[in-house]
Amino acid sequence: MPRMFVPGPVDVDDEVLQAQAQPMLPHRSKEFEEIFRRASEKAQELFFTRYRVFLTASSGTGLQEAAVRNFVDRKVLSCANGAFADRWYEVAVSNGKEVEKLEFEWDQPVDPERVAAAVKGGGFEALTIVHNETSTGMQNPVKEVAEAVHAVAPDTLILVDAVSSLAGARIEMDAWGLDMVLTSSQKAIALPPGLGLGAVSDRAMGKAETVENRGWYFDLVRMEKHRLKDSSPATPAMSLIFALDHQLDRILAEGLENRFARHSAMARRVQEWADAHDLSMYAPAGFRSQTVTTIKNERGIDISDLNAFLKQRGMRIANGYGPLKNKTFRIAHMGETEIDDLEELFAAMEEYLKR
Ligand SMILES: *Cc1c(COP(=O)(O)O)cnc(C)c1O
Repeated sequence: MPRMFVPGPVDVDDEVLQAQAQPMLPHRSKEFEEIFRRASEKAQELFFTRYRVFLTASSGTGLQEAAVRNFVDRKVLSCANGAFADRWYEVAVSNGKEVEKLEFEWDQPVDPERVAAAVKGGGFEALTIVHNETSTGMQNPVKEVAEAVHAVAPDTLILVDAVSSLAGARIEMDAWGLDMVLTSSQKAIALPPGLGLGAVSDRAMGKAETVENRGWYFDLVRMEKHRLKDSSPATPAMSLIFALDHQLDRILAEGLENRFARHSAMARRVQEWADAHDLSMYAPAGFRSQTVTTIKNERGIDISDLNAFLKQRGMRIANGYGPLKNKTFRIAHMGETEIDDLEELFAAMEEYLKR
């Protein structure tokens, strides 16, 4: 079924698309509140958390904004080694926060020791980090970063963007001591775009109560009051909640362990294919994403021409992101994608490369 090897929006299962066609309900009705609560409770499993999961009518970037508005009064550290980390930095700056950017080369992971040295005594209320940098195919060592930060700055909240990895890779919010983990619907969860999911720890909620100018739409303190009544302050994206409810059943029926194993097997297969074709990975071994692989375009392939060829076969891959356009290309292997789909893609790519 999946034909789009792009890192979101990904293909959505037909049954899940159909789930959106359910008739509307009044959003303040027992029937809808039951579905809203059930979906949010099942979602906790994806985050490995006992804490609340907010469901917002926004894409993931909305929750990047919510994170800095709610958990930072003044000063935040932004770990940056890719395009989406840069976006989060800009979101924090444009919300008037004092942001220190801790930069790493894009082809290097965030280094826990450097982060620890930066937060130590720095008075940072929070730090932001991207788990799976979709631009570079890098999986940052969030668990190790959290450990290092807890040791030297235990009050600094750890805010994690897991937009392209949550539900495709293991991120244990509670065990790792993370304070917010956020994601979007249209990537590894494989729903249509338009829904944000954000899990928030109790201590982060406590912090939010002390922060001024949280705004209105993304005020998580207000949202929490409604959430406790299985509701939201504004009208939820109802059709997407129906789809989420159904998709979570499918994900949990597959089993998270099986799902993670399926993704890492696909990541290995893509790396093996690239190796066999004299192409190397942008991210170093040991830090490669399970859900999207960024390959260096060392053979000078015309990526848009390749994609035009693939489109005739109903498939497409993604060009490099931003400054990496044409220098790299990306093959996503998240959501519903299976190894057999990749084999079909590789067969077509080989046909193209032989021409
Ligand atoms: C796609 C993406 C975003 C942006 O998410 P939207 O849902 O488009 O707002 C942020 N971070 C990462 C890592 C992403 O892959």
